[in-house]
Amino acid sequence: MPALALCAGLGLLTAPAASVNPAPRQAPEARPVRQLAVTFDDLPAVSVVKGDTVSLGVFTDRLLENFTTHAVPVTGFVNEGKLTVAGEGLEGQAARVALLGKWLAKGFELGNHTYSHRSLNELPIEEFEADVVRGEPVTAALMGTQGRRLRYFRHPFLHVGLDLAKRRAFEAWLSARGYTVAPVTIDNDDYIFAAVYAAALKEGAPETAHKVADAYLVYMSAVFDFHEALAQSLFGRPVRHVLLLHANELNADYAGRLFERLRQRNYEFVSLEKALEDPAYASADAYVGRWGISWMHHWEQAMGRPRTGAPDPPAFVTEAYEKGRK
Ligand SMILES: [Zn+2]
Repeated sequence: MPALALCAGLGLLTAPAASVNPAPRQAPEARPVRQLAVTFDDLPAVSVVKGDTVSLGVFTDRLLENFTTHAVPVTGFVNEGKLTVAGEGLEGQAARVALLGKWLAKGFELGNHTYSHRSLNELPIEEFEADVVRGEPVTAALMGTQGRRLRYFRHPFLHVGLDLAKRRAFEAWLSARGYTVAPVTIDNDDYIFAAVYAAALKEGAPETAHKVADAYLVYMSAVFDFHEALAQSLFGRPVRHVLLLHANELNADYAGRLFERLRQRNYEFVSLEKALEDPAYASADAYVGRWGISWMHHWEQAMGRPRTGAPDPPAFVTEAYEKGRK
């Protein structure tokens, strides 16, 4: 509700006090309205049960259904390298491009997550920039047919570089090319749950999959508790968060339930553009290093604070994940 959001920000100036100031004996569970932009990486798909183009079409419809049902204005970040699969030919490629078309047809925005999902920490800057450029043409053309421009970039692995000169040089290059960096404040391990979830379904173990999914929802509540508290500690107020999730089977099945839980936490879903208007995103940030971490942790470091540890997935999930990687 935009009106509510306005009250939260400007209430003391514009609205009658009675409608804005919380009553002194407010119920303890009442929470302020908070705002959240939801982003999905690794489009068109990652950690799915079936990777053929027909199944991916069904998967994409199911994933997007979560967003439309809950009115979440999602931004999806594409790896165009996934649009070309050996042996599928031009027909397969067209079917994969059509998956991206589904996102745009439903009104969602697409951004660039590089062509091949390599790390800025590992590639020379020229090669990394070339991978960004290579990741543009299909997405930019699709958006162009809607009169829209490709404008957001998301770093693979959230790797921003190992030295500040490289980080700044790349950011300047991105900006000159018309991109805005899409930061993440609520990073999490959904990809770990998703890998275990998809493997369980592939192995015909739906009960395990359900157990993993239930643990995922509990874990995400802890992740939100953590980042809300960190925002309060750093900024003395809630910030407009940016959540990172992945375009995987787990979220196709459970994102709706996650969104319901977030609504219960009093979140309203806003566009990435609106989230980034929060002045928190202009905070000092000179983080570089091998860890791909939340911008909350970037800012924490810039404020001279020691890094606080975000929640971990339960052991049965991480153990199954490690086993699956061997
Ligand atoms: Zn990614």
